[in-house]
Amino acid sequence: MKIVVIGANAAGAKAAAKAKRMNPHAEITVVDRGSFISYGACGIPYYVSDMVKDEKELMSTPVGVVRDPAFFRKVKGVEVLTETEAVTIDRQNRKVSLLKVVSGESSCIEYDTLILATGSSPVIPPLEGRTLPGIITVKSIEDAILLKEQAVSGDRACVVGAGLIGLETVEALTQRGMQVTVVELCGSPDAHGVLDRVRYLH
Ligand SMILES: Cc1cc2nc3c(=O)[nH]c(=O)nc-3n(C[C@H](O)[C@H](O)[C@H](O)COP(=O)(O)OP(=O)(O)OC[C@H]3O[C@@H](n4cnc5c(N)ncnc54)[C@H](O)[C@@H]3O)c2cc1C
Repeated sequence: MKIVVIGANAAGAKAAAKAKRMNPHAEITVVDRGSFISYGACGIPYYVSDMVKDEKELMSTPVGVVRDPAFFRKVKGVEVLTETEAVTIDRQNRKVSLLKVVSGESSCIEYDTLILATGSSPVIPPLEGRTLPGIITVKSIEDAILLKEQAVSGDRACVVGAGLIGLETVEALTQRGMQVTVVELCGSPDAHGVLDRVRYLH
């Protein structure tokens, strides 16, 4: 039995591991277009604030083992292909076409069961200038690396959106000594009391 999972973060990695436990003889392949897999996105603000120094810590088990493709192969018996995008699904012939993000190489993988764990994407409002440099979403480790690089070189930030992720990002940036302005469409963004702890807030 061949099981293919698209997406190798929280949902995809868990689904693959569970499927292997339930079907020990199944051949399970997980593909993800990103470089980082099975990470705790909730740790991103701690990485941005520098409390977590290395992005690999976000992919680590409680005993410090990094959950990379080698870990999944050895410990879970699951094959993980990173930097590999699922481009089309042929449901009639049960095939997924894949594209290697870096080399542009194409291939195909067959499945008996296909699991979609492709997650979500940040909503970027249709604002003029939204593609200018220095504008970063907070979703993935790749975003967090960019944000940390910018936080090292800059001293001011504007965070658009005062939901949980926005406010945790505000806290992380202010802990780095940045001057942060929050822009929020709705009123009363301080549901979690985070703004009280922001030192340089306008
Ligand atoms: C800063 C931050 C803090 C958070 N804090 C918390 C918290 O404290 N508590 C909590 O419960 N949740 C928190 N969350 C939310 C939590 O991280 C998400 O709910 C979780 O990551 C969802 O996992 P997922 O696997 O469903 O989706 P995603 O994490 O979106 O993963 C989907 C994966 O699919 C891949 N993918 C998508 N399309 C394709 C394709 N065509 N081909 C190949 N790969 C593809 C993507 O590259 C991605 O790796 C936080 C999120 C963020 C960003």
